[in-house]
Amino acid sequence: MTKADSQPILHKSRAERAAANLPGDPAQSGFDWSTYRQWIDGLPGGGINIAHEAVDRHVAQGHGADEALRWLGRDGARRTFTYDDLKRETDRFARLLTDLGHGKGVRVFALLGRVPATIIAALGTMKAGGVFCPLYSAFGPEPVRARMTIGEASVLVTTTADYARKVQPWRSDLPSLRHVLLTDGAGAEPEGTIDLGAALAGTASDFTIASTSPDDMALLHFTSGTTGKPKGAVHVHEAVVAHHATGRLVLDLRPGDVFWCTADPGWVTGTSYGIIAPLTNRVTMMLDEAEFDAARWYQTLEREQVTVWYTAPTAIRLLVKAGNELPSRHDLSRLRFMASVGEPLNAEAVIWGREVLGHPFHDNWWQTETGGIMVANFAGMDVKPGSMGKPIPGVEAAIVAIEGEKVVPLTGAMVTGQLALRPGWPSMFRAYLGEAARYAACFRDGWYLTGDLARRDDDGYFWFAGRADDVIKSAGHLIGPTEVEACLLEHPAVAEAAAIGIPDERAGEVVKAFVTLRQGQVPGEALSRELLGHARKRLGAAIAPRQVEIRADLPRTRSGKIMRRLLRARELGLPEGDLSTLENPA
Ligand code: ATP
Ligand code: MG
Repeated sequence: MTKADSQPILHKSRAERAAANLPGDPAQSGFDWSTYRQWIDGLPGGGINIAHEAVDRHVAQGHGADEALRWLGRDGARRTFTYDDLKRETDRFARLLTDLGHGKGVRVFALLGRVPATIIAALGTMKAGGVFCPLYSAFGPEPVRARMTIGEASVLVTTTADYARKVQPWRSDLPSLRHVLLTDGAGAEPEGTIDLGAALAGTASDFTIASTSPDDMALLHFTSGTTGKPKGAVHVHEAVVAHHATGRLVLDLRPGDVFWCTADPGWVTGTSYGIIAPLTNRVTMMLDEAEFDAARWYQTLEREQVTVWYTAPTAIRLLVKAGNELPSRHDLSRLRFMASVGEPLNAEAVIWGREVLGHPFHDNWWQTETGGIMVANFAGMDVKPGSMGKPIPGVEAAIVAIEGEKVVPLTGAMVTGQLALRPGWPSMFRAYLGEAARYAACFRDGWYLTGDLARRDDDGYFWFAGRADDVIKSAGHLIGPTEVEACLLEHPAVAEAAAIGIPDERAGEVVKAFVTLRQGQVPGEALSRELLGHARKRLGAAIAPRQVEIRADLPRTRSGKIMRRLLRARELGLPEGDLSTLENPA
């Protein structure tokens, strides 16, 4: 039995379908990229600028007084910005860059975390025609240095403490870095830095947006580094067409929504859907400075009356782990739509969402390279728990086999192959910075190869199977780790699971699984044996793990993804590779 036929389908009511921004089957919608292009404004003269679509357009259309950004500080502070406020602040930032002598193409890095200055720097940079690159604020000096060097940073926006610890010691090695702007400057800045607040206060608050073309570079995003060294993916202004359309069709955003994307702006989700898509869709977007905390999150959902919520499997698993009593104390009736991205979302988590929070989590799939959501469970579509849904209208996705230079679509139901996309969507990455050969290798025979394995069922739903790098080859079977992990996650004792292949004389490789337990579960031989038995019964002996190791935690990237490559390297005594993105490098 495969996952596709072992789970109940969560049907949507006729009213739910009719209310969705994309009612019915996406494949029948008739939408395509030319439709989406009409949903954005564009600059006079035919250009496109992301910041214009996100901010200035709404002000020009009389919506300047609408609430754009609602920020929750770590310590209980709360600040709101209207679209008028954002226009003024981003104009000032853009003008400051210009006054400092920077022009089109200026590379502005931010090392700030979830604070309004990150949003203002991002949009202000794009207004000036520059390129914005967010860095995850918990990075230490080395990952910061590596990324700023590859990206040839010209400006850095950060705090005094982060500058002193993570940048100052090596700054003289990066001559391209001309200005460092400190958000907490207090008049006694270290040499070579500028107090951003004071500089902005002396800057005029009007600015004419640079006439950027659709193909001008706007964003530089580094991948999570789950499978190796992070790559710098280049994105252009035209990407906003995809951000806006997927915000509307997949996240079901509409003016008046209070939208909370929990991703950090240091990752692509936190920019595409934590800044751009919500603002272009004229919603009120939330930004919470604090780290994950189950009680705080439920309080926030209730108190801020969040209507649309976009989060990740790591957080959802932690919420499940925290139990059902906590959410029962909160009124979550304003929530209308919940979505998840970043890792496989197991069926139990989707169903838990519906039972405990009132809605299923709608899984969707994309990657730094695609710039925006490509495959999704839409609000107006039945959900098959465990599936990542269907391609967005306008995106052609296929399951393929790679045979030398040929890419052969596999049309059979539930056949595992590489997930491939037909290039040409607007938010497609245009380069891996400084790695031309690597970029070229992603494209073959008219397809973009995602590096992920998946299957498609008879109804056109896609099912994630694992990363091509993580695939396990056992006695002639290709085993995607996701299938093994999803099976272990069905067991009530298991909180998280990761499956890898280890060498075996007879089978080539066999599966080994690592799990962490839910609260109150007792590790031990008996439980390991029970998990092995459960897996064998559900998956069959050929696919089931031979060993299950219970651990206190699993290695993960700072963006929250389980690093199977590291489990494997440690198991086999192989080199561990790049660890700059490991959550606990110690
Ligand atoms: P690197 O490319 O550096 O190894 P990464 O692939 O984790 O890191 P991202 O671009 O942040 O970097 O992540 C995209 C990847 O995350 C996808 O290619 C896929 O493997 C995984 N992913 C994203 N969404 C989903 C999903 N809904 N289900 C399963 N996997 C997902
Ligand atoms: Mg990747």
